Amino acid sequence: MRFDTKLIHAAQPPDPLTGAVNVPVYLSSTFAQSAPNRHKGFVYGRSGNPTRAVLESAVAAIDGGATGLAFSSGLGALATLLEHFPSGSRIVAGEDLYGGTWRLFEHHRRQFGIEVEYVDARSNERLAAALERGPTQMVYLETPTNPLLTLADIAATVRLARRQGALVAVDNTFASPVFQRPIERGADVVLYSTTKYLGGHSDIIGGALVAREAKLGERLTWLQNAVGAVPSPFDCFLVLRGLHTLGVRMRAHATAALAVARALEGDRRVHRVHYPGLASHPQHALARRQMDGYGGMVSVELNGGGRGARRFLRGLRLFTLAESLGGVESLVDHPASMTHASVPRREREAHGVTDGLVRLSCGIEDPDDLVDDVRRALRGI
Ligand SMILES: *Cc1c(COP(=O)(O)O)cnc(C)c1O
Repeated sequence: MRFDTKLIHAAQPPDPLTGAVNVPVYLSSTFAQSAPNRHKGFVYGRSGNPTRAVLESAVAAIDGGATGLAFSSGLGALATLLEHFPSGSRIVAGEDLYGGTWRLFEHHRRQFGIEVEYVDARSNERLAAALERGPTQMVYLETPTNPLLTLADIAATVRLARRQGALVAVDNTFASPVFQRPIERGADVVLYSTTKYLGGHSDIIGGALVAREAKLGERLTWLQNAVGAVPSPFDCFLVLRGLHTLGVRMRAHATAALAVARALEGDRRVHRVHYPGLASHPQHALARRQMDGYGGMVSVELNGGGRGARRFLRGLRLFTLAESLGGVESLVDHPASMTHASVPRREREAHGVTDGLVRLSCGIEDPDDLVDDVRRALRGI
């Protein structure tokens, strides 16, 4: 099956009981047993649910992994993954991370003896040096990153991590499996906030993990049940529904994002545009090699700092000011005061999340309307 066909058919046969072309929402917390421990594969809704099982095997098939697991949020997926690592473990992570990921590493897991060293993951040399500094259990990357859209070379990271026996986990939320499949480049685990593109309609909170190998998959399956951060059957149904249109949506998001990025680039009120699909992006060559498309996220640093950003936000009509991203409707975020407010100013600014930075999640409206909206907002600065 080619990729778009997989999104609709991989591991999603019609319901064997009724022939329903979509898996029903099985609202049952428990499942009858004919004798103790004799059952049809489902025992209790935390350990497994038929609707969730279809979503889980679909995401595994789509990303090319052995095991897929669904969670109640992206951070629920990350927290469960972190349970795999005992106290005393060391993680090397890219320094430009989703704010909630950083909060979980820094303000929570650190207390339980997990050491995290942050590196500029754009540089393979810096990654290699961080790995040399001590035994490392995991390298954790976002690529493209949130909100600056910098890239890490997944295949090169895997080569460096292998020497140390470290796992490589990639948060693939921004690219989605349509534009990037980290397991094909050797990554061990892929993480999604399915709240974003996989769900795609800003109506659920969810997460997923895909493990390349069955052995790690079994361990994570055990942890999923032991920790219990599982999604409801209805939320699983909505993510499955989102998966069916993921291919067409991602291409529409990317078309809109490129148009918006081009409209912003070169305007005198704009200091810098971050979009991997622009030839001016410092890692455009890597993006072309590693990705099949560049996604729907564009960040722009406006001249005039926080004041310029506030005026720009006020001028937008189609882009709704809200946290989150990846829905069919366009959203805009001011990272410094919203999604990344938990990162201290000094650290934020050191790697480019300034008060003048605005993050646009380009939806699938007519790209010309989005361009008009952005142009109007620029005129207000
Ligand atoms: C939103 C997001 C998360 C967290 O996911 P939730 O579903 O909000 O818990 C993690 N990583 C990235 C890149 C995100 O955008």
